[in-house]
Amino acid sequence: MKYIFVTGGVVSSLGKGLAAAALGTLLEHRGLKVTMQKLDPYLNVDPGTMNPFEHGEVYVLDDGAECDLDLGHYERFTNCLLSKSNSSSSGQVYESVIKNERAGNYLGKTVQVIPHVTDEIKRRIYQLGKEQPCDVLITEIGGTVGDIEGLPFLEAIRQFIQEVGDDNVLIMHVTLVPFIKAAGELKTKPSQQSIAKLREIGLHPDVLLCRTEHPLNEDVRRKLSVFCNVPLDAVIEGRDIDDTIYRAPLLLQKEKLDEVVCQRLGIQTPPADMSDWERFVKRMVNPKKRVRIAIVGKYLEHKDAYKSIYESIYHAAASLDCKADIVEVDAEFLDKENLPERLHDVAGVLVPGGFGERGTEGKILAAQFARESETPYLGLCLGMQIATIEFARNVVKLEGANSTEFDQKSPHPVIDLLPEQKKVSRKGATMRLGTWPTVIREGTKAAKTYGRTEIRERHRHRYEFNQEYRERMEGAGFVISGTSPDGKLVELIELRDHPWFLACQYHPEFQSKPNAPHPLFKGFMAACLAHGN
Ligand code: GLN
Repeated sequence: MKYIFVTGGVVSSLGKGLAAAALGTLLEHRGLKVTMQKLDPYLNVDPGTMNPFEHGEVYVLDDGAECDLDLGHYERFTNCLLSKSNSSSSGQVYESVIKNERAGNYLGKTVQVIPHVTDEIKRRIYQLGKEQPCDVLITEIGGTVGDIEGLPFLEAIRQFIQEVGDDNVLIMHVTLVPFIKAAGELKTKPSQQSIAKLREIGLHPDVLLCRTEHPLNEDVRRKLSVFCNVPLDAVIEGRDIDDTIYRAPLLLQKEKLDEVVCQRLGIQTPPADMSDWERFVKRMVNPKKRVRIAIVGKYLEHKDAYKSIYESIYHAAASLDCKADIVEVDAEFLDKENLPERLHDVAGVLVPGGFGERGTEGKILAAQFARESETPYLGLCLGMQIATIEFARNVVKLEGANSTEFDQKSPHPVIDLLPEQKKVSRKGATMRLGTWPTVIREGTKAAKTYGRTEIRERHRHRYEFNQEYRERMEGAGFVISGTSPDGKLVELIELRDHPWFLACQYHPEFQSKPNAPHPLFKGFMAACLAHGN
C-alpha cells in the first residue's frame, strides 16, 4: 500500500481537497484502488455543530458521519465509499486520547502531544488502511503549514514515514504562486517559505502543485525546482479554472501529475484513459440549452454552504445537455411585494435545507409561488417541511400551521420533533443522520422519477411531518409518495395537481456523481426545461 499526503502552504482556500480528489480520479483511471481521508486540525469533534457561514456545507456520509465538504469532492471525483473512518479532526483525536487517559490506559505516564496524540493520529491512518484496503491512500491535511494546530499532524506524518519507509510515501504540497501586477511577475518566495516551514518539521515535498492565475513559464518552474528542492517534472501547474472544476483531473493529467506520482511511488500501470471524464466535461461546457433556476436559501453569502446542491444541479443539467443558471434568492428579504419580480423569470424553485426560523417565511412564499404558478419545485429537507407548512396554511386553511422548530405554540404543528428527538438536549451528532431506506408508492411522480420504489438516502434532521395531519393534507391533494418501510416517517411528498412539485426529507445532493446524476435532480431539471420552453 502506498500513501500520499496532501499539505497546503501560504494561504487557505487553495483547493487542496479538489486537488487531492482530482489526483484520486487520475489514479483510479489508471486502474488503482484509491481511498481518501481528511485530517482536520480544528478542535470541533466534527463540523456538524458549526454554522454554515463559518464552515460551509456539512457533508453527510452513509454511516451518518457529519464531515467537511472536501469529503463531498472525494465522493464525486472517485468511487471511494467513505465512512466516519475517512475523516478525523483534532477534536476526535483528543477525545480518544482523553478517554484513554481516563480509562487508565497510559499506565501512569504523562500524556503528551508526542507520543500520545501523534500515536492516535497514526493509528487512525493505519486503521483506515485496514478497514478499506487499497493501492493508494490519499490523506489531506486541513489548514496551512505553519498553523500551530496543524503541527501534531505533520509530526505524526514524519513518524509515519519512518515507520512505512520513504519509498511508500509521497507528499504533495499545494502552494500559491501569486502574480504581482506591479512587477508583472509570478513570485516564488511564498512557496519557498512554506517549504522551509515543512522542512523545519522534517518533511520534504515530492511534488509541488502550484496554484496560479497565469501559466508557469520555464523560468518560474526552474526557480521553484531549485529553491524548493523538487525535481523539475514534479513542479506541477495548477492554473485557475474558469469553466468547471471537473476539468481539474484533465489539466493535471496534461501536467503529468499522475505519471510523476506513480514513478515516485514505484507503481506501474498503463496511462489513465480519461475519455469518459472528457465527454462529461465537454457536455458540461458546451450546453445546447440554458435554464434559470432559483435557490431560495439563507446561507448564500458563503460560497460553499450549498456546495453539493450546486454540483448536483450541474451534473443533472449536463446530462440534459443544458446549462443551469442559478439565481440565488435570499429568503430573508423575500416578501409578497418583491417576489414576483425576483422569481418571474425562473423555470424552477429549489428550497434547500436549513435550520432556525430566519428566512422561513420567505421560503414559504417561494413554495406558494411555485405551487400556484405551476413552476417546478424541489424541496430538500427543510424544503419539504416548508412545502408542507405552505400547503397546510394556504390550501388546507390551517391557520398558523408551522414547524415547532419555528413556533412552539403553533395551533397546527404540521412539522414536529421526531419522537426520539424529544429528550435530546446535546447538539453534536444527535440528529437523525445517515442512510435510511424509503419505500415509494407505486404510481406517484416520485416512483416515475426514480424508476424504482425502494431507495436509500442520507438524512440530517430533527423534525418530521406530523402524521396527525396526514388525512387532511392528503384529502386536499398533498401526496405522501414515500415513507420509511414501517410507514411512520414521511420521506417524500408531491402535489397531485401540479406538473412537478416534489420534496424530500433527506438530502439527495449527497449522492450525485458527474456521470450519474441523482434522479430527483435530473427529474427536476427536466421539468424546469419543459416549463421554461
Ligand atoms: N431544521 C430542520 C430539521 O432539523 C431541517 C434540517 C435540514 O434541512 N437539514 O428537521
